[in-house]
Amino acid sequence: MKVCKFGGTSVASADQIKKVAQIVKADPSRKVIVVSAPGKRFSSDEKVTDLLIQLAEKALKGENTEIELKEVVARYQQIAAGLGLSMEIVSVIENDLQERLVNNNNDASLFMDCLKASGEDNNAKLIAAYFTHIGMDAHYMCPKEAGLLVNERPERVRALPEGDDRLVQLRNKPGIIVFPGFFGYTKDGTLRTFNRGGSDITGSLLAAATEAELYENFTDVDSVFAANPNVVDNPVGIDKMTYREMRELAYAGFSVFHDEALMPAFRRSVPVCIKNTNNPDAPGTLIVNERNYFAQPVIGIAADSGFSTLFVDKYLMNQEIGFGRKLLQILEEEEVSFEHTPSGIDNLSVIIRSKFLNADKEARIVRRVKEELNADHVHMHSNYSMIVLVGEGMRHSTGLAARAASAIARTGASIQMINQGSSEVSLVFGVHKADENKILKELYAEFFLKSAVLSN
Ligand code: ASP
Repeated sequence: MKVCKFGGTSVASADQIKKVAQIVKADPSRKVIVVSAPGKRFSSDEKVTDLLIQLAEKALKGENTEIELKEVVARYQQIAAGLGLSMEIVSVIENDLQERLVNNNNDASLFMDCLKASGEDNNAKLIAAYFTHIGMDAHYMCPKEAGLLVNERPERVRALPEGDDRLVQLRNKPGIIVFPGFFGYTKDGTLRTFNRGGSDITGSLLAAATEAELYENFTDVDSVFAANPNVVDNPVGIDKMTYREMRELAYAGFSVFHDEALMPAFRRSVPVCIKNTNNPDAPGTLIVNERNYFAQPVIGIAADSGFSTLFVDKYLMNQEIGFGRKLLQILEEEEVSFEHTPSGIDNLSVIIRSKFLNADKEARIVRRVKEELNADHVHMHSNYSMIVLVGEGMRHSTGLAARAASAIARTGASIQMINQGSSEVSLVFGVHKADENKILKELYAEFFLKSAVLSN
């Protein structure tokens, strides 16, 4: 039994949904079908989730929402018409949105979640209606009824394992189950959405809970590429990689798969396959526990911008017990999470995603570190990028770091930070944002073009 998830571009139009139906029909083991909200049909298009956010924001301000509501309904209407469905399903969707809009909005965040989730919820209803219309035995499944439980606020939304006992029963339900991605319910029945792109999480959760033989994640590329195709010309596709490698790449900017989505599949060792709705015969990228890494020690290179560095220097820091804890405690109190902490004997840098900071917070953190820890020098700098070399083979090869550093030196850029995690699955270089693309190109040439020449 397989769980399949179809992302926003795969369910953005009637033509795309027809492809989805063909894919589902082609393999009877494809039983649980998780769907996103309609995404972009062309690059300047808007995702339905973004339209819903605009709709909710207007409603929260007490403004007239007629135009935004019409725009959302029109998207479903166009899809339903293209699929040859009666307009009854569009009325169901419109009524559902009207009901959500008159919900109590005292709690803005819950109101927002409820509207955002309607994107996937209504699309699942529409897709189930289409499957039935063309003679497939398909049923919409509400995550509340299925038992997709999430934690209470104020913590970040994550699924609760208690839900698994009920979710496993999806295996025994008759026919194909069309399940909306992106949201679940707390024990008291409150709807909460995962982070953006969170339908991947739903798919992985269901695959793990139902002990599926495979979790297929359908998107709009043939495979995960070894580097960003917007920067590197024709990067190679990755056939197979491990969960750890995907986790590192997703963390550092590979947006093809949500970085939180791997955990459930990984825990139960459910293999994940990333495939293309527009070219389903392409084998895609398989994500598993182990791979043979001798031929290709480095599997991919990611680059992500938007990092800041908090640099702290204090003479004899290495002898001061509790210094690191106190520093990180200040960040905790300021509700800032950190990514890396490269250190020297008398200094320590904390790499932070700039989106967690603002001018006031930065000034406060710098002042507190100076005053509370009696540091000699404290600075905050922004506009850094992290370039991450990822591969299971790194811990078994020598000289990879030297090759990477030489490649970066060839670009004339200077390395601001190096971090090799103890897992040795990744090697991280902190560089100035302005140097990011040229470094990525040079590293790709070093690890993918050269090795191709060497092995020919
Ligand atoms: N529709 C949601 C988003 O755009 C969730 C998803 O598609 O995964 O973020």
